[in-house]
Amino acid sequence: MEKRAYNFNAGPAALPLEVLQQAREELVNYRGIGMSLMEVSHRSKEYEQVNDETQQLFRELMGIPEGYHVLLLQGGASTQFSMIPMNLLPPGKTAGYVMTGSWAEKAYKEAKLIGEAQIVASSEADNFAKIPSLKEISIHPDLAYLHITSNETIGGIQFQQFPDTGNVPLVADMSSDILSRPIDVSSFALIYAGAQKNLGPSGVTVVIVRNELVQDSPKHLPTMFRYSTHAANQSLYNTPPVYSVYMMNLVLKWVRDQGGAIEMERRNREKTKLIYDMIDQSGGFYRGVAHPEDRSQMNVTFRLNDEELEKQFVKESSAQGFVGLKGHRSVGGLRASTYNAVPYDSCKALAEFMGDFQKRNG
Ligand SMILES: *Cc1c(COP(=O)(O)O)cnc(C)c1O
Repeated sequence: MEKRAYNFNAGPAALPLEVLQQAREELVNYRGIGMSLMEVSHRSKEYEQVNDETQQLFRELMGIPEGYHVLLLQGGASTQFSMIPMNLLPPGKTAGYVMTGSWAEKAYKEAKLIGEAQIVASSEADNFAKIPSLKEISIHPDLAYLHITSNETIGGIQFQQFPDTGNVPLVADMSSDILSRPIDVSSFALIYAGAQKNLGPSGVTVVIVRNELVQDSPKHLPTMFRYSTHAANQSLYNTPPVYSVYMMNLVLKWVRDQGGAIEMERRNREKTKLIYDMIDQSGGFYRGVAHPEDRSQMNVTFRLNDEELEKQFVKESSAQGFVGLKGHRSVGGLRASTYNAVPYDSCKALAEFMGDFQKRNG
């Protein structure tokens, strides 16, 4: 058995050990071709098979209905912050954004560089510790689209239900919770996610988009920024990040073999419960950042009563093999990211460490 860290990194993040082992086995001589997959043409039958199969696996695992493209793009979720308004926000229209924290804010800022965008609901007054209630989200029927961030990776809050937007296209940044739970894709017009939290290594970004939304990209848009370019070329218009897609392919097969999104959700709840219970039963020694009803099942954010003690927590935990527990530099505190590939045993070890730390410092 390999000695592995208790990896709670926020992104790039833990990958399943089985996936890494298979990649190692296939690295130098990919399935008998005498080369690695990185050394062959992206037009080769080997890569074409990986490309097709990966898109197909997405369709299966997410239950994507007919009428959607699955695109494998580059530039990260951050490039989607601009590609979405470039493609879907024509002059004279306004896009709506639900403000839930750092990532929603970045998406909104990019949209304003391209066209008209407005905040339709915000939890800023609550320090982004909750998701605005669905009743607060006002959806004007003329909006070009409504953008949400299904899981705020830094704040640790997550949509438990999604707004019903009627005929207004619903767009979601699912970078940090895609495939962590079953969702009804048909209620979304576009879903996007950088791979490096739940799907694989960085370098590839998945975009699931309704066919009719890519049909007429604006004529002036550069070729690479049009969804229609990538849709018409099965994501092979230019050289794709072949190794990242290959790794994502292995991760998707792993998710399938474990039991799919339903099983991922069950495990994720079981994992986070260990940590949230420790917080809730600590008598105020640990304080959860998010309101309990909007707690993320991917990023558990919590604090101690003084910052020196938080530093001590990070220091002692890292000496015991825990990685990535320091909160994001913009908000401080502590954060445990418990993505699909983070094993139950890591979360159990963390909960035990937390109990022990409290005994020594409470
Ligand atoms: C990590 C993250 C991003 C940024 O992804 P990049 O691929 O680095 O551009 C965007 N949104 C959310 C919710 C994230 O967690």
